[in-house]
Amino acid sequence: MLQFVDRAQAFPPKRQAPLRAQDFREIAERYAPPAAEEQAGRCSQCGVPYCSVHCPLHNHIPDWLRLTAEGRLREAYELSNSTSTMPEICGRICPQDRLCEGNCVIEFSQHGSVTIGSVEKFITDTAWDQGWVEPLQPGRARGQSVGVIGAGPAGLTAAEYLRVLGYDVHVYDRHDRPGGLLTYGIPGFKLEKPVVLRRTDRLAAGGIVFHQGFEVGRDATLDQLRDKHDAILIATGVYKARAIKAPGVGLSGVVEALDYLIASNRKSFGDAVPAFDDGSLDAAGKNVVVIGGGDTAMDCVRTAIRQGAASVKCLYRRDRANMPGSQRETANAEEEGVEFVWLSAPEAFDTKGNGGGDKVGTVKATGMRLGAPDASGRRAPEPDPGAAFDVPADLVIKALGFDAEDLPTLFDAPELGVTRWGTIRTDARTMMSNLDGVFAAGDIVKGASLVVQAIRDGRDVSERMHAWLKTQAKAPVAREMVAA
Ligand SMILES: Cc1cc2nc3c(=O)[nH]c(=O)nc-3n(C[C@H](O)[C@H](O)[C@H](O)COP(=O)(O)OP(=O)(O)OC[C@H]3O[C@@H](n4cnc5c(N)ncnc54)[C@H](O)[C@@H]3O)c2cc1C
Ligand code: SF4
Repeated sequence: MLQFVDRAQAFPPKRQAPLRAQDFREIAERYAPPAAEEQAGRCSQCGVPYCSVHCPLHNHIPDWLRLTAEGRLREAYELSNSTSTMPEICGRICPQDRLCEGNCVIEFSQHGSVTIGSVEKFITDTAWDQGWVEPLQPGRARGQSVGVIGAGPAGLTAAEYLRVLGYDVHVYDRHDRPGGLLTYGIPGFKLEKPVVLRRTDRLAAGGIVFHQGFEVGRDATLDQLRDKHDAILIATGVYKARAIKAPGVGLSGVVEALDYLIASNRKSFGDAVPAFDDGSLDAAGKNVVVIGGGDTAMDCVRTAIRQGAASVKCLYRRDRANMPGSQRETANAEEEGVEFVWLSAPEAFDTKGNGGGDKVGTVKATGMRLGAPDASGRRAPEPDPGAAFDVPADLVIKALGFDAEDLPTLFDAPELGVTRWGTIRTDARTMMSNLDGVFAAGDIVKGASLVVQAIRDGRDVSERMHAWLKTQAKAPVAREMVAA
């Protein structure tokens, strides 16, 4: 250990940009074992590990790094797995530069952080290869059932822990495949889909019942599910796209980011997607303009490159230092040929240059400048008079973020309490909503956040649901369990 002075930071090598832009595979391979052990050996084994403090799961990072450096990979896996339901997924897609690695002490001393995410991915991918990932073992049956609405990371994590505790667990999701945004939002070049599906297959094999293509609100009301189960978890994420108010926004060729990404992910699965096949959601040969500066925008620009767009520009109203998306992802996008137009925002969309019809041809943009910091601490953008310009565009993708859908109306449950942002209002201690036995977790409580945060929520809510369900147990067998 403590090799950080003599041993330089080395991430697993990325494939060359022109090569990786031709497919949807992840851009970096995982470490070969000696490299993983060497990189783990750079850890300074801090007494107070800031990496763990800043990991939402408080993973035992220095401990599994030490085990990896010593070649004790199975133990490293078991420890890493003890705090997370999906360590290899977090290792791939957490914004480590803002979380564990960004708070690594050797990063502060200018040596470059330990490559924690890449080692985490290596450990659990190795465990899958070696057959160390054991089947899910359900606990002794309690005779109580739980309905989980939403098969994203929050719902799946809660489902796993509750099944281990002996509950019958049913997961309801409106998509045809489980995984939530892991499956249909995040593109394969960040997270290959078999990595997600081997996790969900393991849960199904452990007796968790998945009801795919089941939309709560359409196929059942919330009350109907409450009648069927002893407790309910709402983990539906946030899906209402934020709107742009600008003339011409309704033109054809101006599309929503998630529609675009879902279509692309479905094509990677080999599905028939009419809106892709007729060209509406396919960037091939087009001048593409993506509006936004978060993770979703980064995923759209890089998807457009892979689909063979003629040009890809990203318009963002702040500058690079003030963008919400990961700096690493921005650098990846630039390497792949994306042009960022910082300090710019759309004012209108028009048909000029489209060759006729009601299709978008141009984004009329305005330059922006940064004013005083706003409530979030970031400097607020304001239009820069006289800095207008046009950008040719055949496809415009709106990626301004997401808010909560109107769940009380959708679920036919007007009594369900929500905040003024539409997220579900929960008791901070119990994680229960205002409805008895109805809990909530993940983005639908926090607003658009991160996968690792959803996993943390899923872990926490399973404990709170278990505590509450024990107080509700009726059958003798269940009373025995309470005593235990
Ligand atoms: C494009 C994109 C890229 C992202 N990239 C990253 C990243 O790189 N790293 C990162 O950490 N985070 C990323 N995020 C954020 C991350 O994906 C989310 O924070 C996380 O998935 C939230 O998990 P969740 O379980 O709360 O909800 P979700 O993953 O959204 O899952 C909710 C599930 O509920 C289902 N559902 C919704 N309504 C109903 C209903 N009425 N009936 C039945 N089912 C329903 C949905 O179909 C979905 O499967 C990204 C988000 C997006 C949109
Ligand atoms: S879960 Fe995310 S933040 Fe935590 S150690 Fe892994 S990569 Fe870092």
